[in-house]
Amino acid sequence: MITLPPPHELPNGATIRTTVYPSGNQAVTIDREQRAEPPSPEPRIGLAFYVPYTRVYPATVAGAPVDAVWVEVSSSADAYFGALYRWWQEADSFAVIEHDVVCRSDVVQAFEECPEPWCTFGYADVWHPESRVAWSDILGCTRFRAELIEAVPDAVSSISPGGWDWHNLSCRLGENLRAAGYTQHLHYPWVEHYHMLEEDRRTALRAG
Ligand SMILES: [Zn+2]
Repeated sequence: MITLPPPHELPNGATIRTTVYPSGNQAVTIDREQRAEPPSPEPRIGLAFYVPYTRVYPATVAGAPVDAVWVEVSSSADAYFGALYRWWQEADSFAVIEHDVVCRSDVVQAFEECPEPWCTFGYADVWHPESRVAWSDILGCTRFRAELIEAVPDAVSSISPGGWDWHNLSCRLGENLRAAGYTQHLHYPWVEHYHMLEEDRRTALRAG
């Protein structure tokens, strides 16, 4: 039978867990820190909002609609693709608020009311006129209308496995939608983008 020795707590709050299989071999996992749980969604009241997440930031929780469904995608770099694939298959309008984006009530209203099929709020910290190419396909605060999904039903499923990694996903999807004749409708003001990289650096420093 599988045995689970007691987890080993590290000074920074991370936990090392070891599983001993019947063969005698082992598997080790490490939780970098205590995971916060996302809020449970209230009954849906309008447009579907999804929050793909690997970590739960309080600022994201505070800004997200109360009926947003949080979708954990931390199992692998491809998991976000799997989530997007399913949402696209459902062929219903939906909005994505990534876990490091602070949503606002005016964002919800804009996504609900704007008739454009593909709408995006940019990030205040990375959207510069000189780097338009880099952010043209940004996915972190975006709404897709059902008419767009129905018009380009294979926009996600046609992405080759090399594009499934979340680092590449938004660009591959954007390429497919632009190839079908669509362009993002940009909304302002830009949304606050949590500086995850800095936070991760601080976490690493605490761990060290
Ligand atoms: Zn729009």
